[in-house]
Amino acid sequence: MRRAVYPGSFDPITNGHLDIIKRASKIFDEVIVVVLVNVDKKGLFPVDERVKLIEKSIVQYANVRVAGFNGLLIDFMKKNDSKVIIKGLRAVSDFEYEFQMALMNNKLDSSIETLFMMTNAEYSYLSSSSVKQVAKFGGCIKGLVPDVILGDVMNKIME
Ligand code: ADP
Repeated sequence: MRRAVYPGSFDPITNGHLDIIKRASKIFDEVIVVVLVNVDKKGLFPVDERVKLIEKSIVQYANVRVAGFNGLLIDFMKKNDSKVIIKGLRAVSDFEYEFQMALMNNKLDSSIETLFMMTNAEYSYLSSSSVKQVAKFGGCIKGLVPDVILGDVMNKIME
């Protein structure tokens, strides 16, 4: 079985992420979206809530599942018997960080490959942090995050 892992912070999931998930689900037999705990980033949503928001957003994709993980990505890969990491690339600015991460993961486990998918042009400007900024100041985030989680994101911002 060809199984790929799509890691990120997903705080919250956006339509840019969902586009990568949809495209990856057509290429692989199974895609596992994993919400990684990032010690450097204080998030808006706790990890378990991010997982629930992703679950709601992917119900239409039968071969996609989601998990949360506190640890090294390559350990999650081993546990889940996957050799392929999927990453999305928006702009050149993503490249340096992603390049470093891909080389580090390959250094930790040389059997792991990172595959990059170009963002859909429609979503190239979209990030979780920009969604949070827009929502915080009362802007409309319809079309930026999956419709099924619009209410959840707005409620969280209002808290
Ligand atoms: P963000 O940068 O939005 O906070 P994450 O840190 O959760 O997102 O990133 C998870 C993965 O999704 C990364 O590989 C990132 O490059 C990718 N990604 C994020 N936003 C988009 C987008 N709009 N289009 C394509 N890929 C994206």
